[in-house]
Amino acid sequence: MSEASEILIYLVDPSLPKVKQYETLAGELSKIADTTFSWRYLLSVLNETVRPSRAFTEALRAHILSLDGVPTIYAKSVPVQVRSKSADIEGAYVMGASKICPKCANKFVPNVPWRRFCPACNPVRSC
Ligand SMILES: [Zn+2]
Repeated sequence: MSEASEILIYLVDPSLPKVKQYETLAGELSKIADTTFSWRYLLSVLNETVRPSRAFTEALRAHILSLDGVPTIYAKSVPVQVRSKSADIEGAYVMGASKICPKCANKFVPNVPWRRFCPACNPVRSC
């Protein structure tokens, strides 16, 4: 049995109408993955007639973590190691994507979207 179908069995309450539950769960997973999963797709994954997509599996994991109070935005993130001036960003969610400095090729997460160069090549001005 696949991990996804095991999780789905856990989420479905046999005493309630199944199609309605599949529709509700498919809607929640669609919202997490920012795509559309039909209730029939969910049922196919549950019955193991379709292999779940990566997006579906990740949404399902995020949904399970959200049941324990973990915001889905954190559940969908991956831990990475970053360099920072202070340790207070440990565990923080970084909302921006990294860029490569065209001058020195260092990777950095810009403090503003229009920043082109890393802080070493173009220091951040303090107000
Ligand atoms: Zn640079």
